[in-house]
Amino acid sequence: MTRTISILGATGSVGASTLDLVRRNSDAWRVGALTAHSNVQELAAQAREFGPEIAVIADEARYSDLKVALSGSGIEAAAGRSALCEAAERPTDVIMAAIVGCAGLAPVMAAIKQGHTVALANKEALVSAGEVMTAAVEAHGATLLPVDSEHNAIFQCLQGGNLADVRSITLTASGGPLRLVDDLDSVTPQQAIAHPNWDMGAKISVDSATMFNKGLELIEAHHLFPVGLDKIRIVVHPQSVIHSMVEYRDGSTLAQLGPSDMRVPIASCLAYPRRMNTPMAPLDLAAIGELSFFAPDEVRFPATKLARQAAEAGGAAPAVLNAANEIAVAAFLAGKIRFSRIPVIVEAVLNAANLPPDPQTLDDVLLVDSAARQLAEEYLEKD
Ligand code: NDP
Repeated sequence: MTRTISILGATGSVGASTLDLVRRNSDAWRVGALTAHSNVQELAAQAREFGPEIAVIADEARYSDLKVALSGSGIEAAAGRSALCEAAERPTDVIMAAIVGCAGLAPVMAAIKQGHTVALANKEALVSAGEVMTAAVEAHGATLLPVDSEHNAIFQCLQGGNLADVRSITLTASGGPLRLVDDLDSVTPQQAIAHPNWDMGAKISVDSATMFNKGLELIEAHHLFPVGLDKIRIVVHPQSVIHSMVEYRDGSTLAQLGPSDMRVPIASCLAYPRRMNTPMAPLDLAAIGELSFFAPDEVRFPATKLARQAAEAGGAAPAVLNAANEIAVAAFLAGKIRFSRIPVIVEAVLNAANLPPDPQTLDDVLLVDSAARQLAEEYLEKD
């Protein structure tokens, strides 16, 4: 039976990996909706190949370009943020949430409110909305399947298990490209995005270099697998072969291993609860030879400490942390600040933010996000 998938953020790294699996399994999948921010050319090429009902470009200024690029194809073109949400609401068997940043939150919530099965890559959406999102999942009977490789690993290790029996969850971290670099002041964007194991979009690559990626993942895990923050640990594992682990109270630790290729966790979400073929070579442990593990260095890379503090504070704090980080990363990529300023700016915004009462609605979260962005911009001007 053919299943339908819609992809938010189709032109990105996760979007392209998802479409690669759809292409390889074209008898089993058809595409409902594809979205992008401004990359009309790629979106139109994907739409012409996969034939969705609708293609949406978030940047309204690119609407006429998209219309022209799709003319004669019979594919509906739409633009703007509300069109993204409308695309997310359309009936589909699975929706891949692969927009980067809090910009993906409103469409993810729109999909959840339809009770959809959401394969969630867009960690910033869950970090920012936290309980607002998990409560909506519960209220609307939606399903969240974790795409992030670590959370997907944990999800797999929990199959047949019970959260009440979990002693700890360990998120593995590669440590990023700068783990052994002494001078973090002079790191260039090119160095920061050159991840040793994973090929990813620019923002998450910088997050991996600062370790904010692991910090965001800590908060993400806290919402997806509510075992208590004190039971969620981080270990640096430079080979990225073990994607995360769950330790049970009887002393058994289950781990998920695999190549550093997002098509593995994406395939696990698409086929869940079954399995599907991917083009991965068999895991050759003898060729890998050695797996090593280190405690994270929270002095040089304070991001995980800041994220844990924000998670402990709860309420609006994780949304503030995420927004400040998004602004700081964009400034670093634009050459406006040094790499080492990213955690400094995030910490300053977290300390200065006048945290409102716990957000209760999507609008509350978006207000916090926008206030924190403004504060971060002000810090950048002073920096
Ligand atoms: P990319 O930067 O490669 O792609 C981002 C996608 O989102 C693109 O389609 C982009 O469109 C779209 N987009 C960007 N900004 C907006 C916006 N304001 N409104 C609507 N759409 C927007 O990101 P990745 O694929 O690397 O990451 C996507 C998400 O998945 C992130 O949250 C990341 O943390 C998470 N993730 C990624 C992994 C990876 O291996 N890449 C691994 C695990 C999680 P356009 O191309 O037009 O700019």
